[in-house]
Amino acid sequence: MNDTETLTRNLQTAEHFDVVIVGAGISGVGGAYHLTRQCPDRRFVVLEAQGTFGGTWTTHKYPGIRSDSDLHTFGYRFKPWTSAPIATAAEILTYMGEVIEENGLGHHIRYGHRIVAANWSSASQTWRIEARRTDTDETLWFSANFLWMCQGYYRHSEGYTPDWPGMAEYKGRIVHPQTWPEDLDYTGRSVIVIGSGATAATVIPAIAGAAGHVTMLQRSPTYFSPGRNANELAEMLRTLKVDEAWIHEIVRRKILYDQAAFTRRCMAEPEKVQQELLAAVRAHLGPEYDVAQHFTPTYRPWRQRLAVVPDGDLFKGIAAGKASVVTDEIERFTETGILLKSGQALEADIIVTATGFNLCVLGDIDFTIDGRKLAFHETVTYRGMMFTGVPNMVWVFGYFRASWTLRADLVSDFVCKLLTHMRSIGKRQVGVALRPEDSDMPLLDWIDPENFNPGYMMRGMHLLPRRGDKAEWMHNQDYWAEKDEIPAIDLDDAAFVYR
Ligand SMILES: Cc1cc2nc3c(=O)[nH]c(=O)nc-3n(C[C@H](O)[C@H](O)[C@H](O)COP(=O)(O)OP(=O)(O)OC[C@H]3O[C@@H](n4cnc5c(N)ncnc54)[C@H](O)[C@@H]3O)c2cc1C
Repeated sequence: MNDTETLTRNLQTAEHFDVVIVGAGISGVGGAYHLTRQCPDRRFVVLEAQGTFGGTWTTHKYPGIRSDSDLHTFGYRFKPWTSAPIATAAEILTYMGEVIEENGLGHHIRYGHRIVAANWSSASQTWRIEARRTDTDETLWFSANFLWMCQGYYRHSEGYTPDWPGMAEYKGRIVHPQTWPEDLDYTGRSVIVIGSGATAATVIPAIAGAAGHVTMLQRSPTYFSPGRNANELAEMLRTLKVDEAWIHEIVRRKILYDQAAFTRRCMAEPEKVQQELLAAVRAHLGPEYDVAQHFTPTYRPWRQRLAVVPDGDLFKGIAAGKASVVTDEIERFTETGILLKSGQALEADIIVTATGFNLCVLGDIDFTIDGRKLAFHETVTYRGMMFTGVPNMVWVFGYFRASWTLRADLVSDFVCKLLTHMRSIGKRQVGVALRPEDSDMPLLDWIDPENFNPGYMMRGMHLLPRRGDKAEWMHNQDYWAEKDEIPAIDLDDAAFVYR
């Protein structure tokens, strides 16, 4: 069979859907829910590479795995969260499972289907999608009018580990939290955790009890926000026997109100906010502890995600002597541990590299537009959702400073409104294009590092689309602006091109 015959056969055998949702994480399951409610007659399928739903919450299995934002806002707006605000992965998966069950979404999801390639055909105005069954390695073909990209932003198969000199000489075990081995026995062992982000802050208290000693080795400190894992307003409303749906809505509004005020303060009076955050840490560690060296970051609060420490558990481990913090740089790995730039040597049986993610743009799918490879970094983003030159596709990229799902819900409304609009004007294709008034707009990197600069974004910036300097042409990470702007998007604006 020649290439044309193969292509024709593939197209003939392809199963067709109005919408293909990529990924059954919190975004994809939310998208499926909204589609069934807002566009009930669309045929759609969710294709998920893993064997079950959950995405991030299925991939990560390290001890203590939990959310670092509250579930009143990380939960969907349509399903009340009824437990403590900071939740374990298991609790989040139970919640998502209920969403799937209660709304009959299960039969729309196909697990073990990894999408490997997608080609947009302008002639047929459809995406042709090649998927691989992860159990049988069989290739399956799908076609879709619309692709809803809910594949997240990092590679699920492995995390990011820098290449330090001497790693091969180290005789102990090196573990990345994203691929935590089931058989890892840390009982009585000395462990170094490299990193001080949310993952390190979660793993350390979870293993500090059983491990001999845990050292958090950080190049530079992170802001932490210790607090009781409870929401007082939710507790009061429950005491008053208020309906859970009401509690969810009221508590969400209160949290978002408080977060907006906090973010404004971070910008307006960063020194004062910094002192408050450090005072909370000092309250746990006592006046003798060197908070200045180990817990005082050089950046302004909120430039990186603020890691919540529920019930101060990280600090309890440090105060009890089960864990300690070293702030230094790695010179090299040795046979028995790590040699630091200061000359200090740390010994360890296990080294955990909590050093972040590998940014993964568009789910590692080989995208082509009419057979031409898609150069994603050459496109310009429309509000971090659509991209110039890429028809009939929306990507859900959530918030970092607010809960991801707040944006997933907003983008879902946008997609459903767009699909409805296209039908009402009799068009099958939509794209975004710069308008005449945008012609001299400067094109910048996807995010402004002055505003937000985590390592995985900085490492992957060259892979991401460009942004402009107008609200329409950037992903501004501002829920409080977008909650009004996204619902008000004028789908007849010249930025949208229909065919
Ligand atoms: C440990 C950890 C804790 C976090 N905690 C929070 C938090 O508390 N609050 C917060 O707001 N954010 C948090 N985040 C960010 C978090 O990733 C998002 O909030 C959210 O879970 C992302 O959901 P998602 O559905 O968009 O993507 P993901 O959870 O990444 O799910 C994407 C899914 O798409 C699938 N997929 C990818 N590519 C393909 C393909 N080619 N074919 C088929 N399927 C594919 C993946 O298998 C995966 O199941 C956390 C992230 C991590 C790693």
